[in-house]
Amino acid sequence: MILQSVVSVDVEDYFHVEAFANVVNRADWESYPSRVEANTRRVLDLFDECGVRGTYFILGWVAERYPVLVREIASRGHELGCHSYWHRLIYKLSPEEFRQDTVRAKNLIEQAAGVPVQGYRSPTFSITRKSLWAFDVLAETGFSYDSSVFPVRHDVYGIPDAPRAPFVVQTPSGPIVEYPMTTFRLRGSGNLPVGGGGYLRIFPYWYTRLGVERAWREGIPIVSYIHPWELDPHQPRLNASLKSRLRHYTNLSGMENRFRELIRMGPFSSFRESGLERLARVHDLKERQECPKKTP
Ligand SMILES: [Zn+2]
Repeated sequence: MILQSVVSVDVEDYFHVEAFANVVNRADWESYPSRVEANTRRVLDLFDECGVRGTYFILGWVAERYPVLVREIASRGHELGCHSYWHRLIYKLSPEEFRQDTVRAKNLIEQAAGVPVQGYRSPTFSITRKSLWAFDVLAETGFSYDSSVFPVRHDVYGIPDAPRAPFVVQTPSGPIVEYPMTTFRLRGSGNLPVGGGGYLRIFPYWYTRLGVERAWREGIPIVSYIHPWELDPHQPRLNASLKSRLRHYTNLSGMENRFRELIRMGPFSSFRESGLERLARVHDLKERQECPKKTP
């Protein structure tokens, strides 16, 4: 069965990503040639061409410098969300540091576009078991949903035993709906990531098609995500580790077509328009589930 699914964009520049955090100082961000405006417009045009509206989680640092871009995203029919201000790993922050960063970014995006922001996507999926307090802060600061949990084992992120379909997290300040990144299972496998970012760009497309079909068969909607820099094969090359360069630069020239193929598979929309919150049941992430086998 084909399920309603979601497409999202994490609006950030090529030098903001975690893969380059060791070689790019945040204090130096201003000195890098920015490509985020042009690249985000390429994403907007691609969405128009595919006839799809999505959710754009915007970095506060970008919203502060390019408020016209934020307004344009909203005026072209898309939902606005928040992707933090400084793109730091949440589990390395204190709850107070996280609150300040989140409020600053949310205010900048809302001021730029004049619309309320309801959704949050953490940098590098960094809501993990070390940072479950982030849900409390998100509810307190006026968010109604989050899309940051990746139910996989990974060297930087992941809650491998989290639910794989949308669920509700109860906090003292009210509920937050969580939309996890998509995973599927093959016979005997752990949770396999599919349909977004590097997994969409780097793995062969037959893997994406297989994973999307399997996830739908299991009743799991696709939560896809892309980054504006993933459509920019000509971005300046940064001198990071081989692993980081492979993750960041592989198949940038093929991403547009990968995205088109994905969108052709089924109905995609923003979180706001998806209606998927009706599927979400309350789940307590503090209770550990039986762990799936290791993700290769
Ligand atoms: Zn990001």
